[in-house]
Amino acid sequence: MTSAEQAIGTSVDSTVPNGDASQIAVENPATGEVIAHVPVLDADAVAAMAARGRAVQPAWNALGFEGRARVLSRMQKWMTDNAERVIQVVMSETGKAYEDAQLADWSYGVAAFGFWAKNAEPYLADEKVSTASPFVKGKKLVLRHTPLGLIGVIGPWNYPVTNSFGDCIPALAAGNAVILKPSEITPLTSLLLLEGLHECGLPEGVMQVATGYGDTGAALVDQVDMIMFTGSTATGKRVMAKAAETLTPVSLELGGKDPMLVLADADVDRAANLAVQYGMFNGGQTCISIERVYVEEPVYDEFVAKVTAKAAALRHGVSTGPGSVDVGSMTFPKQVDIVERHVDDAIAKGARAVVGGKRGHDGQGGYWFEPTVLVDVDHTMECMTEETFGPTLPIMKVADAEEAIRLANDSPYGLAASVFSKDVAKGEAVARRLEAGAVCVNDALINYLALELPMGGAKASGLGTRHGKGGIRKFCQHQSILVTRFALKDEPQMYPYRKGVTKGLQKAIRFMYGRGKRG
Ligand code: NAD
Repeated sequence: MTSAEQAIGTSVDSTVPNGDASQIAVENPATGEVIAHVPVLDADAVAAMAARGRAVQPAWNALGFEGRARVLSRMQKWMTDNAERVIQVVMSETGKAYEDAQLADWSYGVAAFGFWAKNAEPYLADEKVSTASPFVKGKKLVLRHTPLGLIGVIGPWNYPVTNSFGDCIPALAAGNAVILKPSEITPLTSLLLLEGLHECGLPEGVMQVATGYGDTGAALVDQVDMIMFTGSTATGKRVMAKAAETLTPVSLELGGKDPMLVLADADVDRAANLAVQYGMFNGGQTCISIERVYVEEPVYDEFVAKVTAKAAALRHGVSTGPGSVDVGSMTFPKQVDIVERHVDDAIAKGARAVVGGKRGHDGQGGYWFEPTVLVDVDHTMECMTEETFGPTLPIMKVADAEEAIRLANDSPYGLAASVFSKDVAKGEAVARRLEAGAVCVNDALINYLALELPMGGAKASGLGTRHGKGGIRKFCQHQSILVTRFALKDEPQMYPYRKGVTKGLQKAIRFMYGRGKRG
């Protein structure tokens, strides 16, 4: 049995014929080997799951924050006890390096189960609201947050724990039932984690995993009270259009083309190290990875030389355990075609690949593209304007910070960005001018690990946020309550309207609000 089969406790069903439309053949993208089969669920199956989820949700909600937190805290422990199992399954269906699976999937999951167990209650507790309105003064005003009911989570393939399962955790902590539709490329991690949640006491049916392709996801949109979608901008638009038919709320975490700006006074060593680290991390298949770099002319040559040396030294191959390689395979076969198209387009228009530039890896199976550094690039090239989502780092020389800001903002996307300058005040001032949902100064990407800090895209990169208060309130119905405790039988603004009272009220309001500064 392969490690994935061992980990999810099933064996590959060799009786499933190739091309059976009712099954997905899950591959290890580092080798091309089929490691498991999972069913393709149709709309009827998704509807049955929805009915089951709705039936058990009230009892899950009735456990209260404490009861739900007990299950999630046990799951945090389960994640630490089963670290190797989780990391191996993530690696087996994504082809990523051991360290990428450890840092950005497993350790995120460990932190997230504990974070939401602890913070669901403070984020969702009733809030007392005070008011300045004289008509409402003295009344009790409360904002409360109750679970919406059944949440649909649809996820991509790049981080099976973080970007798929990760959003299920706050949805569950809020008291909802959840159906997760993981990517058809990486369903095994979700099945394993669901098994873990059941071992930790999650009642059957509170969370379910609906395996399948896009049609399964579309069927889910019809069944739930809210959709949390992570994936490409094109699919996000389709999901939102479908959700509009039933006025189902959506939260969308979509694609990006994240710029890095290296100013002339940057620490060039740090900037070069982070450019390679966070451009190539997870094979560049990170929504917030560095996708394009703008470097001020005085430090351009030094930056390119340092990036080239560092990128050329990366060990690219099948990860066999800690420290064995730096960059693994790509996960999604079609993504290799996109990366190749962007690199070929750039080279045809005059760019140079100073490192890498080709698909494949030592003639072995699976889906590979070399870590690649491109120079002499500009905005006529796809590698600078479209999401590449691969191990490429195109670097462009700019005259000054103004040109870098203009080019960084010259994109339909606005997910994340980074600025490098030893003058942190200047770096922050530049950050504030960038059209991105998250910006790091002298850093990149790790803002995602601060679960208290909201993260969400601007422009075509999404709607809504994950993490922080908003990352759990979006799974709730908000209810405002006004309670009048001590009251007169009648109030001045009530029927019958009387001239004297009306004029008196106007005078009082003008007195209250009409004393502001003029001009
Ligand atoms: P994708 O849009 O192709 O698929 C995402 C999910 O949507 C999959 O589970 C897929 O089966 C499902 N789907 C496809 N068609 C559907 C439909 N009509 N209705 C409902 N569901 C449907 O994206 P992908 O290739 O899996 O992932 C890569 C993309 O995800 C990149 O653009 C990346 O930037 C983005 N991403 C964004 C974030 C973020 O937080 N902003 C995080 C990770 C990935």
